[in-house]
Amino acid sequence: MAKYIVTIAPPSPNGDLHLGHISGPFLAADVFARVRRVRKDEVILVCYSDDYQDYVARMAVQQHRDKFELATHFAHRIESTLKKCDIELDWFLKSYQNRYYKEAIALFYRGAVAAGQIVATEAQVPYSEEDEEYGYEAFARGICNFCGEESDASQCEDCAYAPVMEEMGELRSIFSKKPMEMVPKQREFLRLSAYRSYLREHYERLPAVREHLETYLKEVLALEATYLDWFIDRPDGHGIDLEVDGVEKTIHTWFSGLAGYYAATEEFAHYTKQPELHRAFWQSKETTIVNFLGFDCAFSHAIVYPSLLSNVPGHTNRVIPITNKFLKLEGKDFSTSRRHAIWADEILDEVSADALRFYLAMVSPEEAVDNFEQEKFYHWHENFYKTSMDLLQQFMQDYPPGSFNIDLAPDGLRTELERFKDKWNFFSETDNFSISKIAITLQELLSVITRGIREQDAGMRVAVQMYLVMAQPIHPALSDQLIERYQIDRDRVIDWLSLNYEVA
Ligand SMILES: [Zn+2]
Repeated sequence: MAKYIVTIAPPSPNGDLHLGHISGPFLAADVFARVRRVRKDEVILVCYSDDYQDYVARMAVQQHRDKFELATHFAHRIESTLKKCDIELDWFLKSYQNRYYKEAIALFYRGAVAAGQIVATEAQVPYSEEDEEYGYEAFARGICNFCGEESDASQCEDCAYAPVMEEMGELRSIFSKKPMEMVPKQREFLRLSAYRSYLREHYERLPAVREHLETYLKEVLALEATYLDWFIDRPDGHGIDLEVDGVEKTIHTWFSGLAGYYAATEEFAHYTKQPELHRAFWQSKETTIVNFLGFDCAFSHAIVYPSLLSNVPGHTNRVIPITNKFLKLEGKDFSTSRRHAIWADEILDEVSADALRFYLAMVSPEEAVDNFEQEKFYHWHENFYKTSMDLLQQFMQDYPPGSFNIDLAPDGLRTELERFKDKWNFFSETDNFSISKIAITLQELLSVITRGIREQDAGMRVAVQMYLVMAQPIHPALSDQLIERYQIDRDRVIDWLSLNYEVA
């Protein structure tokens, strides 16, 4: 039995979640955690709200509101939307003034200091006197010095590199639109260049990452030290104020993500009265940390966090990022400000979480950008999903509870089902994990089942129970309901799913 800490990159609490968010790390992490539980592994699934994020501070300035009041409001909205979508977190930490969070940031900061990898220096930072804001992130935009696309000065949304402020072109204030002046500040950076060979070995040792991330890692780890080393503080900017050994610092939230996950499991252990749980997970060599994130967060998760973990003795350093590209809506980027979005909360008033999860999993932009078209979704919902599920339930009604036995499969059918079982197992592994491939496999299996039912094949009793267990991570509500109602022996099916299992 393996241990997994599964994490989701923290949402900025400056709005609710739209389908673009759900189709990426949120649904993938939830499905991954459920799949691991089907396979009887121990799992904790955590996330937190990024209350100190610069974009939250910017919205607060624009709306003349208190930034933390705003963060708290949206953190609760996000939490309730996740519940509505059956994304079942063990814990969703609210980071504002959270003592576990601050302590964890200090832990990873001190670890890096002890390793001799935090360096102080004077640097030039962008400032707008007119707007009285520093352009560390949300308050300025310019041209990324790596890829030439428009970006903030923190993480390029396009190439996912961390731009170098002094080398960015046309850095302008988001409010006045005027060029920002560069002013000197005493800052600290993390010497990531010192972790280069550690990180290369790390990724050779662990399960494979997605192709686009592998390419990214090769390129970023080949950068010169000046481009790889990374500032971790924002003097006079927005972030987490931390006193370390009597010195006040403002650490930014990108440094603090690992701390957020760490703090979330600690708070979870505390509130559920399982004091040993946090240590049992983080300080076990058996634990794998699987981070789900959008590709734009690759720098912090794939470069910084494994480095930070390596400084803290006695902790697991098996940390694997699973990145996704982005979902478009009718061919255009989701945009909150231009109101080009479908809010998860709203569409879930119309369709079930099961149906939405199934479809979003299929179009999840795992390796490349994918597209959500409303017309296609509703067509699939009416003509495939509802029809198949109705037929499946009508079929089950003809048999008494307890009469669904996985061992009843005739040989021919068993061979056919094993093909689906092997695919499901393959795409459930961390190396090959894909909610899109899992959902497409299930859709194919469901088509085989509905055809069998129409042909009055009683052998479908076997296929149906296997389907319900395999589909539980994708559509948990319906699966759980039918498994219970018809007294399907879930453990027996799981044993059968695991039988003769080999990674292809
Ligand atoms: Zn770029």
